[in-house]
Amino acid sequence: MTKPKVSSDWLAGCAGCHMSFLDIDERIIELVKLVDLRSTPITDLKVPDEEGVDVGILEGGISNTYNEEVAIRMRERSKILVALGDCAVFGGVPAMRNFFGADVALKRAYIETESTDSSGKIPSDPELCTPVHVKPISDVVKVDVFIPGCAPSADLIFYFLSELAQGRMPEIKGDKIDWH
Ligand code: SF4
Repeated sequence: MTKPKVSSDWLAGCAGCHMSFLDIDERIIELVKLVDLRSTPITDLKVPDEEGVDVGILEGGISNTYNEEVAIRMRERSKILVALGDCAVFGGVPAMRNFFGADVALKRAYIETESTDSSGKIPSDPELCTPVHVKPISDVVKVDVFIPGCAPSADLIFYFLSELAQGRMPEIKGDKIDWH
């Protein structure tokens, strides 16, 4: 039987959701018997297969135009798209920036931090992406499965991936797992 292809990527987040994924520890051996793990931030492949994957997983919210491009590409190439973690589901911690605006955040990061000397300036180049109002992935593309939590537990991640791999839609109620 052909194993379903799974890809993941990260947007505006802290990488904690992928670290939680790695926390499934030795169960990753069980998982790779069920799925073909393709592009992810923790594998060599970095872009989902052009011919598409069965499950695409996105961590983090949308905070700039590059995040939008990555989310749209993952949506176009995935049969099922999963929003993994609070940042992906509703914007999470990065969305706190919306109270102040991107300009204030950039000034704080590149000019005002204690470790920055007087030459600090906000990077500006046509090649760089543009900040946008931070939003959940579902504001940009259709999401099929929402996995809340900061970060979602390794048990929850293992559960939904193994369910999807076996052709079942996982049932997640709040932070409870329906182990049917
Ligand atoms: Fe990090 Fe939490 Fe956001 Fe996941 S949901 S990317 S762990 S801040």
